[in-house]
Parts: sequence; structure tokens; C-alpha cells
Amino acid sequence: MMDNKVRFFDTTLRDGEQAPGYSMNIDEKIRMARQLEAMGVDVIEAGFAIASPGDFESVRQIARAVREPVVASLSRALVKDIDAAYDAVREAARPRIHTFLATSDIHLEFKLRMTREQALKRAVEAVKYARGKCGDVEFSLEDASRTDPDYMCRVVEAVIAAGATTVNLPDTTGYATPGEIHDMVSNVMNRVPNIDKAVISMHCHDDLGLAVANTLAGIAAGARQAECCVCGIGERAGNAALEEIAMGLRVRRDSYGLEYGIKTEEIAKTAQLLASITGVKIAPSKAIVGANAFAHESGIHQHGVMANVKTYEIMTPESVGFKKTALVLGKHSGQHAFSRRLADLGYNVDKTLEDRLFADFKKLADRKKTIEDRDIVALVETATGHTPGENDWKLKNYVVSSSNKMFSTACVTLVRNGKEVTESAFGSGPVFCCIRAVEKIVKHSFSLLDYQIQAVTERRDAQGEVLVKISDDAGTYRGRGVSTDIIEGSILSTLDAVNKMLGDPKGKSLGTGAASKAQHTFEDDLLTGRTDKQRD
Ligand code: MN
Repeated sequence: MMDNKVRFFDTTLRDGEQAPGYSMNIDEKIRMARQLEAMGVDVIEAGFAIASPGDFESVRQIARAVREPVVASLSRALVKDIDAAYDAVREAARPRIHTFLATSDIHLEFKLRMTREQALKRAVEAVKYARGKCGDVEFSLEDASRTDPDYMCRVVEAVIAAGATTVNLPDTTGYATPGEIHDMVSNVMNRVPNIDKAVISMHCHDDLGLAVANTLAGIAAGARQAECCVCGIGERAGNAALEEIAMGLRVRRDSYGLEYGIKTEEIAKTAQLLASITGVKIAPSKAIVGANAFAHESGIHQHGVMANVKTYEIMTPESVGFKKTALVLGKHSGQHAFSRRLADLGYNVDKTLEDRLFADFKKLADRKKTIEDRDIVALVETATGHTPGENDWKLKNYVVSSSNKMFSTACVTLVRNGKEVTESAFGSGPVFCCIRAVEKIVKHSFSLLDYQIQAVTERRDAQGEVLVKISDDAGTYRGRGVSTDIIEGSILSTLDAVNKMLGDPKGKSLGTGAASKAQHTFEDDLLTGRTDKQRD
């Protein structure tokens, strides 16, 4: 089907989330999915339902949480996978089953140990089975870019005849060049007789830095779905970056002449939400959303931009949602100005949350002269990340001493349900001591997997943002704390993670990477020669 609209298929929550450092718990995935919906993506790939009970549950909750986008779950070409995928997405307003099988000779011979004919038959059976459950079925020819072109045409024709409504031709290994992708898609568009019955999709990896170029080359040749991730996260070097494809189509409409549903003004907020949830910062030079993407540094460029912004700027910061700061907020700002700034930053908060945020803002303004947009974003992210409950531990006070010649010491008092507990610890540094004291108070041991600290804004009175990752036997938990005092920020971020750990562990943990385990089961199935029917 070659109409005029490019569909955006976002896989941040599946391919993106598989990448190291980007794990999200269910609550975080739902927040991300809601923002993807607000940005106007056409399809959300919510996960890989068979991979683990946690994956299944998050796909199901996302399917319930969004109404506009299609919600898809990935599944191998196996009956039990397709069953799980459909059970997870069936409550979506628009469910999709996305099933895949490799078609390149190297994958067929060494991974699947199947002949081309066996793979063709399996693909058709999988699509037919999926169509029996769901009217919207996508089939991916894994490693398409290294698949024999004649065989590719046969598979595409057969799966469309079997009922696939979208056919994806991925560059799984990030190996292809834009010219090759253009030829591959043109070949399929020209030679497959029933090609008008399905949408051709691109899914390109960035191993050679060509994912976006390859995706756009495929689109130019007739593909009408782009599979991509916010900030280009994903397996290895990642996937094509959603914001780069969208702005490519917008800024170069003269070249592509295609429509899309992405509200590009939501792009910056979406990228910032991903960074804030995962704790992985956006590189300053990242196209479209990096801090330097619209900064003109050299004198010649600045002169040009002042004379006429079009000399060096091909798109405006506002077109991707970066807002100009008109007024500075400080301790004398009232709630009206504060709530207007919240709205300008794209936050739609209820009155209760607004009151709480305004109180936090006033406290911050006592410690910091000017409050910038990034400070407000930090306040909102802290307040919405984890709502403190009755049973949560809260910080009452602490004192530390640190020295270059002696042990550091910390004494920390926490409160829970009105009861105060104080503990002290000594060790090699004040942060270590505070975390140890917290561990003693809550009587639950954990290990610290990651600790990051970064200034939220410039200048000496800047707030420090501390991100920690801790784990116990049951799972891994992320915490975040912001303060003008880095020791306080460290304790707050530890408490944020500890409260998640001690609270209902279900849904708060980041899981244990079960997607890779499923891959083994899959290969085991095929290596032992068992068929779907024998398994079920
Ligand atoms: Mn991929």
C-alpha cells in the first residue's frame, strides 16, 4: 500500500528497552506510552509478551492505558508466542500481533536450521494463525537486508496472501547502505503482485550510523511505516531515531512530500521524559534533541543568525518543542506565574499536585536565587516519579563529617509512620556512610549498582541531581533525588529506591532481562526439531 502517509511505529518500549541501561518498570513504561500517544505515534510496540510474566503484564497494561495508537506485541513464529502476544494486546482499542522469522541464508542455516521452503511454510502458518485471532498482523523477515531478493519476494507475497497487513523488511544487523535499502524496497514494490494489500515497513539498526538514512531511503522507495525509537535507543548501536525521521520528513517536505501524524512540538518533552526515567542523559550533540542542537557558538555563525536566523538554522527550536524562557522565576514569584510556567513546559497537573509542586518550588527558591525551566522539570519529575506513601521512609535530618585523613562518618534520622530511627556509620566517604546508615535503619540489605550525580543547571548554587540503582534478591530499583546539597540528594535518591524496594515489589522492579532467556527457548525448540503442535 503506497498512500501518502508514513506510519510511525515506536519500539522504544521493546527494542529500546532491551538495551543495557534502559530497563523500565511497568509504571515507567505506562508514562512513556502515554507521552508517545500524546506525540501522535501510530503504533506502540509495547514489549515481547512471551519473554517473561513482567513483559506480558506491561504489554497488557499499556494496551489498556492508551486509546489512539495501535498496540503491538512481538512474537516469534510459534503458536505459544502468538497466543501470548494476542492475550497481552487483546484489550487494546487497536491490537496488533507482530510475528517474525529470519529469512537470510545465514540465519536459516546456523540459527534456525531450516531450509528456505520450511521457513516459508512456517511464516505462512504463523501469519494465518495470527490472523485467526487478530485483524492486524505484521510479519517481519528478520535479516531481510541479507536475504536473497527472489526468495524475499516469494515470502512477502506468501505472507500477504496469508493475511499480513504490514510486512517489515529489517536491516537487523545495521549492515546495509541507503542505496541497497532503496533497491531492496523497490524490488519488492515492483515485483510482488499483491503488494498493494500491505504496508511495507523499515526497521533499521545503527551499527554503521546509517539507521535514519536507510529508513528514509526505504520510505523514498515506497515503505510507509518507520520502526524507530526515541533518541535512537535499542539493541547494540540502537535503532533509527524517531525524532530524526520525523524532522527529516518535516524539514525536507520538498524532497519527500509525505504526511505523518507526529506532533513534532512534543519531541523534546518525549526525549527528556525518556532521559529522566532511565537516567541516561541525552548527548549534547544529539541531532534534534541534544542541548547543543540549536546552539550557535562560532562568531561567524552568531553574526549570520542575528542578521537572519535562516542563514544557519534549518528548523526552529520551537518546532521540536524547546520553549524560549521569557521570565525568570524566583522566591517572589506567585503561584499564578508558577502554574503558567508549568503549562508552558507542557505539564498538565491537577490542583493537588500543583499545590505540592508550588510548595517544593518555594522551598527551592529559598536556597537558589533563580529558578530555571530545568529546575522546574526536575521538581516535576521528582514529584511524579514515586508518590510517597504512608509506609515510606522519609528523611528527617542528617549530619556528616568528611576528611582526607580520617574515616568519614554519618548520622541519619529517618521517619516512618511518625516513628523516628537514628543510625550512624563510618567508612571511606560521606555518601557511602549515609547509604550504609539508611541500610541499617530499614534493616534490608541491598547493593548499590550505579550512582550518578550531575548539576541540573549551571552556576554555583545549582541543584545536584543524584540517580542511584540498587538491587536485592528480588530485583533492581532506580531512585532519584534533587537538592542543592549533594549529600541530601544522595540520601533522597537512596530512599526513593529503597521505598520502591520495600513497597509492593510487583511492578516496581526493572525485571531481570528475560527477553534473552526466551531466545534460548526458541532456538532449543528448533534445534530439537519439535514443532509448534508437539509443544502445545
Ligand atoms: Mn531490532
